[in-house]
Amino acid sequence: MSYIDSVLQIVEQKNQAQPEFIQAVNEVLCSLKPVVDKHPEYKDAKILERITEPERQLIFRVAWQDDNGEYQVNRGYRIEFNSALGPYKGGLRFHPSVNLGIIKFLGFEQLFKNSLTTLPIGGAKGGCDFDPKGKSDSEVMRFCQSFMTELYRHIGADTDVPAGDIGVGAREIGYLFGQYKRITNRFESVLTGKGLNWGGSLVRTEATGYGLVYLIDEMLKGAKKSMEGAACVVSGSGNVAIYAAQKVAHLGAKCVAMSDSGGYIYDSEGIKLKTIQQLKEVERKRISEYVKIHPKAKYVEGCRGIWTIPCKIALPCATQNELDFEGAKSLVKNGVIAVGEGANMPSTPEAVEVFLKAGVLFGPGKAANAGGVATSGLEMQQNDMRMSWSFEEVDKRLKEIMQRIYQASSSAAEEYGCPGNFVVGANIAGFVKVANSMLDHGLM
Ligand code: NDP
Repeated sequence: MSYIDSVLQIVEQKNQAQPEFIQAVNEVLCSLKPVVDKHPEYKDAKILERITEPERQLIFRVAWQDDNGEYQVNRGYRIEFNSALGPYKGGLRFHPSVNLGIIKFLGFEQLFKNSLTTLPIGGAKGGCDFDPKGKSDSEVMRFCQSFMTELYRHIGADTDVPAGDIGVGAREIGYLFGQYKRITNRFESVLTGKGLNWGGSLVRTEATGYGLVYLIDEMLKGAKKSMEGAACVVSGSGNVAIYAAQKVAHLGAKCVAMSDSGGYIYDSEGIKLKTIQQLKEVERKRISEYVKIHPKAKYVEGCRGIWTIPCKIALPCATQNELDFEGAKSLVKNGVIAVGEGANMPSTPEAVEVFLKAGVLFGPGKAANAGGVATSGLEMQQNDMRMSWSFEEVDKRLKEIMQRIYQASSSAAEEYGCPGNFVVGANIAGFVKVANSMLDHGLM
């Protein structure tokens, strides 16, 4: 049995009820064969065994009181996956589907993504099975305060710096930061995605969506193609989706469809992003409301059908495994030329295979959505220097980072015999830096 297969077997045995984690580990390890063959020192130092085992896994009770005075209990997580490159860094997700396996898969992905950004940050992820949907602001505040009352003892500006993810936006980061400050009596860069008045960075809100489109633009240019005039389908209508759709429009393409967990809208004239922002960012309503304001658009119940809409560019920006074999087949049949993963692992392994076989330019999440954490890294740098850069300055740095990620992934794919395969390229480029740093640090 090969070294990689034997490690996969161990990971499967040890993490049996965690399919998403096993899927993510499989995806990375299967592309590392040429690296492991070339570097026997990784096997000698048991790098694969160590890199698939989180350094620390925290699970804690979050008890809080709802507006009716009833006590509620949720389960919180923080997985400090790997600190070879710097303090642990990665978002918090509040969603009822959150469990240990999902947070571990996200932490594992984060580690390679953070490495690709070239910034000095390790990998982590956290969250809770709490659903902010339908909760009042006061309930969200009490929940966040309780969550931080446990989490604060494990994090710190040089230890572990959480950020947002699904269900954790500016409001939640504000409440979490307030509680951290109250308990510790320290105003430090312990969270990113902060408000602009109190240490946040310009462009952080837009960063993941913008970064995704910058990367896809680079990939298209590398293949002598262009985004100009292309129809684009973006799934989701949260933070990543909204700013991906905005940047697509800046670069001359047209977003014709978006979704939420209830269904999708199709507007052949181009989605009116202002309406989406009002509905989602301000009123926290369902996307179905869009057709009441723009009656020529169409709403379809259920979100998977969004991939049947003909488009040149597809950007899955909602959640894991939202784009399956059928969706991929349908996109290819309708002439898609590029797919960029704004979400983490939105395409199933079968879908990825369809894209790669069909020669579609495919930007995997690790590379494509790294703009968010990269800008969080820039937020930490600005906090350290007690200064803030202009929107243009941060945007320029973000764009440069995405260009570097494109170059690094592209060169690694070429060097290891898979030119044009960004899945292999991103995995190898992300892995090598972490593995070499682990060797430098000795056994731990
Ligand atoms: P948001 O909470 O802002 O938005 C999530 C969007 O996805 C919403 O439209 C939501 O619909 C939809 N969605 C959530 N769960 C499902 C589901 N099970 N099926 C269909 N749709 C669903 O999250 P973000 O935009 O921040 O994150 C989206 C993805 O991007 C996640 O995978 C996240 O890990 C990844 N990501 C985010 C980064 C960031 O900076 N925010 C950075 C890197 C990656 P509804 O409102 O109905 O729930």
